[in-house]
This record gives sequence, structure tokens and C-alpha cells, in this order.
Amino acid sequence: MKKATCGMVRDEPLIFERSKPGKRGFPLPELDVSGRDVAELLPKGYLRDDIAGFPEVSEVEVVRHFTRLSTWNYGVDTGLYPLGSCTMKYNPKVNEKVAREENFLLSHPYQPEELSQGNLELMYQLERFLNEITGMDRTTLQPAAGAHGELTGMLLIRAYLTSKGNPRKKVLIPDSAHGTNPASASIVGYQVVKVKSDERGCVDSAELDRLVDEDVAALMITNPNTLGLFEEEIVKIADIVHRKGALLYMDGANLNALLGKARPGDMGVDAIHLNLHKTFSTPHGGGGPGSGPVAVKEHLAPFLPVPLVEKGANGYYLNYDLPQSIGKVRTFYANFGVLIKAYAYILTMGAVGLEKVAERAVVAANYLRVKLRGVYHLPYDRICMHEVVFSDKNQEQYGVKTLDIAKRLLDYGFHPPTIYFPLIVPGALMIEPTDTETKEELDSFIEAMKEIAREAKEKPELLHSAPHITKVSRLDEVGAARNPILRWKKR
Ligand SMILES: *Cc1c(COP(=O)(O)O)cnc(C)c1O
Repeated sequence: MKKATCGMVRDEPLIFERSKPGKRGFPLPELDVSGRDVAELLPKGYLRDDIAGFPEVSEVEVVRHFTRLSTWNYGVDTGLYPLGSCTMKYNPKVNEKVAREENFLLSHPYQPEELSQGNLELMYQLERFLNEITGMDRTTLQPAAGAHGELTGMLLIRAYLTSKGNPRKKVLIPDSAHGTNPASASIVGYQVVKVKSDERGCVDSAELDRLVDEDVAALMITNPNTLGLFEEEIVKIADIVHRKGALLYMDGANLNALLGKARPGDMGVDAIHLNLHKTFSTPHGGGGPGSGPVAVKEHLAPFLPVPLVEKGANGYYLNYDLPQSIGKVRTFYANFGVLIKAYAYILTMGAVGLEKVAERAVVAANYLRVKLRGVYHLPYDRICMHEVVFSDKNQEQYGVKTLDIAKRLLDYGFHPPTIYFPLIVPGALMIEPTDTETKEELDSFIEAMKEIAREAKEKPELLHSAPHITKVSRLDEVGAARNPILRWKKR
């Protein structure tokens, strides 16, 4: 197979290594105060002495340095980015343009309501769109990420149950859940109890029925779950939870699979967070601003964070009058730029377009599932939703592991999928192709995966030492995260 990578990748040293004393990126006019030193003339606060050995380089060296480094990056604009559970789809550039319009960009959170009517209307309308899409009654736009939405949701549930007289003690979480779920529940003071998945990869309703008692505050469920499977018993699950006075929280990070097709509110969900930076047109992965709105049913609405945007006789306003509110969960109002992109995306897609998103995401994942079935082990061989989970079980006999497969994919020019997650599948390869990939791109990914499976059998050593044609090969990723070198020292 033709490799998808070739060409000119420039080597580039640290910018400090390019430094030569006296080199400058700019000329300053001669100092016209004779006999004095600049350091003496400038106020102390403007002088730096804590960064020794600042690189001395020319302008073109700076430009080339960073441009070369940027070519080592891989992004959605470079190619397929099949990270499961992340929805790394292509985000239309027009939404970035809209978010950068000056009237949005230059508005300030301290601006009075009368001068912020457009922004408030956008937030008001976006909330209505999200209420409609999720089938819920009210939505707070404040949380800044998915995990922050979970935390907000848990605080809401705690506040609601406290108002009923007992906050309760436990939160049930399926063993396939994203790691942020148990973290969010414990930060709010709940004890986390694991719910085992059944052999079909779903929550076992009989097991759940045994676990739910009067001490359980909520079940936190992800649907479709992290195996990419729809929880078919969701209505029954909601009923089991509600019968004991507990609430159903849904992790809605996988909403890309449901858009316009099914609404969590109709399934009995009481609260759900969405990841605008997965489903609604904000690129992510670089740690940039995100947004994790939380949508709730009527009974949780009085506890939502303040302020909510309302519409009155004199226009839109920020409503702080929620006596039972959990308070604010973020400074000011939200990551507003992300809201603009979501709003623009929803308007341009329309109801029909959003439905197509879900259809294409699901068809793409099932195309990969069927084409790669047998080549890679499929632990849950069922129709999947937006992502499909394989494992390295078929390659075990050749001593090839998931990490080797993922690293070898780099040689074929693809970002690897999510690996070793969900934890309930040993050696998991979790692939989410998303709705924005063409059939041709999916076909070349399938070809690469098949070729790698062939290599695993015929020349496993090639995989053990992969990647071969990237700038660097296997890295000490843990060391890089735990012992980062953030200051350059001359060696
Ligand atoms: C991404 C994700 C989260 C966390 O969202 P962040 O915005 O990264 O905090 C939670 N649950 C699931 C299932 C996810 O995929």
C-alpha cells in the first residue's frame, strides 16, 4: 500500500540553540541620552532579570522556527483523527469567522444589559435550541467543559435532594464510564458505586435494580455508552432509578450519535451535559476554551446556576433571582465564543442537517466495524452508534499489542484512535470516524489497518519499533508529563 506520508519535514533545534550574541529581530533607534544605560532609564518594573539566556535570533529565524514546528503537528485539518470518545470532527471555518466578528469580539462582560441585547438574545436562543435538541426544559450555558458540566449536574442533584430533606450518599456509575464521571461525583461528596456491564456491553438492569436503594442519589449513565453502544433499556433504567427517588444523570458527550434522532429528555433523563466542543463546532484537543452546558427537567431548574437569560417586556436580561440556585460555577457568563460557534452551527445545519450528522456518524462507524471485523477482534459484535471498539486479541499470538498498532498507524499518516479505553476492554482500540469523513478517507484508513494486521503476522518486529518515519519514534510519554523541562539551560 502507498504510504500516506512522505516529503519534507525539516529538522529544527531549540530556538535557544540558534541564539548568537548580538543577533536581533528588530533595530531600535540609537539611545539619545548620552552616557546613560537603558537599564537605568527604564522603570524597574519593565526590566526582566529572571530569564537568563533569552535567545538572540533574527526575525526570519523566529518565523521559520515556529512554522517548522507547526508542520510536526497533526490536526483535523491534516487528516482523519479517529479518537474515540472525542468526536474530533471537522468544524466549518465559517463558524470561526462568525465568532470573530467585532461586535462579539469587542463586547465586554461588564457592558450593561441594554448594550448587550444581541449577545443575550444569542444565549437565549441557543438555550432554546439545546432544550429542543435534548428534550429538556432549561439549560445553563455556564460550565466550561464536559467534566465541569458533570460537576454542575452533581451539584444540582445534591441541591434538589437536599431540598427534599436528604442529599443521599451514593452515585452509581457503569464500569464503562469516562473517568471524569466518578471524579465529579466524588468531588461533590458522593460515594461512587460501580455498575457492571452485561455481556452485551450495556448496563445490566437486573444488577442495577439490586443496587438502587434509598441511599442512591443518582445513576450517571453515558448513552450511547463508551463502547459506542446504545443503552437499549434506558427507559426501564430510568424507571428503576426513579422508583427509589433517585435521579438519572446522562453524560451527553456522545450526543453526536443522537442529534435529531432521539432525545434524552424523552428517555427519562433528569439532567445531562453536552460538550459543545465535541458536537457543536468548536475544535478541541489543544486545551482551548470549551463549553459543557447542562440541560435539566423542570424540577431541577430552580437550582440552576445564576444568571439565566430571560426575555422581559424591555428585552433580554440576566436573571439572578433564583433563591435556590447552586450559585455561579464560572466567572461572568460562559465561554461566549464557543456559544457563538454552536449557535451558528445549529442555524446553518438546521433540523434536517443535524439529523444527517447523527446518521453519517453512525453509518461511518458501522462501515469500519463491518470492514475490519475479523481482521481485528470485536468484543461486542453488534450494530454500534458513532464509534466502534476493537481489541488487539487477534494480534496477541504474534506478540503485537494495541500500542504497536497505534504507533504503526503514524507511519501510514493517520492519527491513532483512542487506546486502552474503555477499561472494560483489554487492549481497546476505540475508533470514532465522525460524520465529516469521506468514504475515500475511511477506505484508506481501513486499508492501513488491514496492512498493519498483515505486518503483525509477517513482520511483527516492524510494529514493535514503529513509528519509523516520524520525527521522533517512541517517546517516554509519562516522563514528559511528570518531569517536563520548561526552562532551557545551556548544556
Ligand atoms: C470528553 C468526555 C467527557 C469530558 O469532557 P471534557 O470537556 O473533556 O471535560 C466526559 N465524558 C465523556 C463520555 C467524554 O467523551
